[in-house]
Amino acid sequence: MDKSVVRFSHCNKDIFCFFVPEECPECGLSFSGRRLEEAPVSIPDPFCNGHTSPCSFLVAPTDENKLRDFDGGFDLHTGITNTKGVVFNYTKVGVRRDYQGWERCISIPLVQPDMYNLIDQWDQYLEKFSTAQMWDPVWQSFNEETHNCYNYTLMFINCVLATQGKRALSKDEFTKSFVLPRIKRASKYTTLCREISQNHFYIVDSPQKKTSETDADCKT
Ligand SMILES: [Zn+2]
Repeated sequence: MDKSVVRFSHCNKDIFCFFVPEECPECGLSFSGRRLEEAPVSIPDPFCNGHTSPCSFLVAPTDENKLRDFDGGFDLHTGITNTKGVVFNYTKVGVRRDYQGWERCISIPLVQPDMYNLIDQWDQYLEKFSTAQMWDPVWQSFNEETHNCYNYTLMFINCVLATQGKRALSKDEFTKSFVLPRIKRASKYTTLCREISQNHFYIVDSPQKKTSETDADCKT
């Protein structure tokens, strides 16, 4: 999906679409020669190309329903990129190194641009971690619940945190604070795109009224 979603407000509605129309789909008022009360806002696409996101945690939605229901289980495939955008991901046959196939996924950067030491060592860490015995299918087999791609990525993140002297994240913590909010945003965006493709617009009651009331409250 290359189209980007824009939102504008009219008739106390938030109206999402790919292009701002000539007239309001709610009241039919023509916008030509008139200004909208507010400039249309573009909604950022939560998906990006994983191969151009170095040193990141990636979540690839295998299908939209799974994206919506994601609870930290095995439903989605996850991976870690090296500094060159190669995606290391654990599967039944061991750790794969993907040079393509992660062009549309959710990406969470794991390093700050100024963490030079970590970036320098990143590929080595990832390579060493991935060749460990525990990811060798002969030694320990893949388990959908306890030894899967998510365990692999989280364990790597925790190894990196340990090198930084930081405490490990539990699976729950990681899922709730880092993964779920992004999954929700992505799922919402996917729904928006689907609705707009079908009906040209996606219209919801605008929450704006409430905020202006709160603003008024603050001023008095
Ligand atoms: Zn209107």
